[in-house]
Amino acid sequence: MAFLASSSASASVAALLPFNRLFRGGNGKRWNRLYTGYSARLRAGSSALSSFRASSFSSAAVGNAGGAPPLRETSEANKTPPPIYTWPNKKKPRVCILGGGFGGLYTALRLESLLWPEDKKPQVLLVDQSERFVFKPMLYELLSGEVDAWEIAPLFSELLANTAAFSLSMTARLVLALGAEAKLDVVPGALEFALPFSTLEDARRVDNKLRTLERTKFGKDSLIRVAVVGCGYSGVELAATISERLQDRGIVQAINVETTICPTAPAGNREAALKVLSSRKVQLLLGYFVRCIRRVSDMEASGDATVIRKGKNIAECNSEKYVLELQPAEKGLEIQILEADLVLWTVGSKALLPELEPCDKPRELPLNARGQAETDETLRVKGHPRIFALGDSSSLRDSTGRLLPATAQVAFQQADFTGWNLWAAINNRPLLPFRFQNLGEMMTLGRNDAAISPSFIDGLTLEGPIGHAARKLAYLIRLPTDEHRFKVGLSWFAKSAIDSVVSVQSTLTKVLSGS
Ligand SMILES: Cc1cc2nc3c(=O)[nH]c(=O)nc-3n(C[C@H](O)[C@H](O)[C@H](O)COP(=O)(O)OP(=O)(O)OC[C@H]3O[C@@H](n4cnc5c(N)ncnc54)[C@H](O)[C@@H]3O)c2cc1C
Repeated sequence: MAFLASSSASASVAALLPFNRLFRGGNGKRWNRLYTGYSARLRAGSSALSSFRASSFSSAAVGNAGGAPPLRETSEANKTPPPIYTWPNKKKPRVCILGGGFGGLYTALRLESLLWPEDKKPQVLLVDQSERFVFKPMLYELLSGEVDAWEIAPLFSELLANTAAFSLSMTARLVLALGAEAKLDVVPGALEFALPFSTLEDARRVDNKLRTLERTKFGKDSLIRVAVVGCGYSGVELAATISERLQDRGIVQAINVETTICPTAPAGNREAALKVLSSRKVQLLLGYFVRCIRRVSDMEASGDATVIRKGKNIAECNSEKYVLELQPAEKGLEIQILEADLVLWTVGSKALLPELEPCDKPRELPLNARGQAETDETLRVKGHPRIFALGDSSSLRDSTGRLLPATAQVAFQQADFTGWNLWAAINNRPLLPFRFQNLGEMMTLGRNDAAISPSFIDGLTLEGPIGHAARKLAYLIRLPTDEHRFKVGLSWFAKSAIDSVVSVQSTLTKVLSGS
């Protein structure tokens, strides 16, 4: 991967983006620009900062609400370069944020919340391939039906609609907050046959697949078999959520190369999760490495081979099944072959920094083995004082030399510092070193179950409904903007009131019917 950037102090960032929206600022005079539905694809202008090659183009285009050209498909866009983005005001400071997730969106909101000398307020451009911010830690709740998509994936246009826009200065600063994506190309067949679970689209795909399986297997004897690869937080939360959803209609098998689940989690969280997984009959295959995944037809799959032989219509049996070959990672275990209707992949991730096109003055971004941009303590990319990087696409070690984890908690706290340090850089003040404060770890274990181990009370783990309520409250507080928080709070309150009424009704019905 080559990064080509001029170290020019008066850099301008030009976005080659197929769709834009223009939002009126809170004071009615200024404007804040938000580009969504775009892949980060930046091109060097006359005083160029950098030039990126688009890694992908989203199909999530939603129209053309602003003055930019309409969405073009990649092939067409490659032929004719789209126009270079021009900043509304040539004199005002400019901040371009790539990626509107926990790092990028919260940096934009933090910038908005700071007090600026009138002549220093920057213009902020937020670029995202999607039109929605996604609160990823609550994606599981889409599968359990506990939340609606608008609650955890609000439109950027709504979140930023009331932000006052910024103004003034000469130079642009860049914020890289593009996150990471699932890394599936590690074993043969994973890319083709396993589904990742890291975006809103992934969650929708998994939900649709489960619905299809629920429909096609309805009233039949065969169980829905789901294999979850990986037993870190994500794998365990998925296994708990899906096993609760399927109940006795399915079986969930979770595979981990380690001999335990969530090896780095606090013991309390791990034990709570083990209890829940065992109560839902999730089969744990620990100490196994997935060697490959193959697709087989019903005809080949062991259970249905007899059916075919008995002369059943082959067309009825052509649903997809997958076979996973498991190789022991520990002594004393034997090779296992698993069959599944759905394979979910939760292992590994890679940073989403786009590749950069060659240009006259090549200067590479310092990337680690995971493709994350290495930053100094002030969250500026090493050797690039005008570029900040945070969240999953960046890498920073804490004072003990350990890499900070790729979590929302880290990205959220870094957004606070990035916003502040942008303010300091624009106002010629000293920048602050980032210090991560670990507040603890939380995991969902189903519709009314969770585990939370706060870091400030040693050995305490909140489990079950109390843990569930505490986790939801913690996430409600973390949602972006007061307005969205209020709407979601009302919605959750209404849903829990309805759930309570339904549960009282069903208890009464049982009591009255004597069952
Ligand atoms: C299912 C799941 C559950 C999780 N649960 C937890 C949890 O319980 N606690 C916790 O702390 N962390 C959790 N995480 C991790 C957490 O969500 C991430 O660490 C966090 O989102 C990182 O923030 P970010 O801003 O770096 O990236 P993201 O939030 O992923 O945002 C990146 C943004 O960049 C955009 N983007 C990417 N590439 C491009 C491109 N080429 N062009 C334009 N836009 C682009 C994306 O659309 C996205 O909006 C979870 C993650 C997942 C997937």
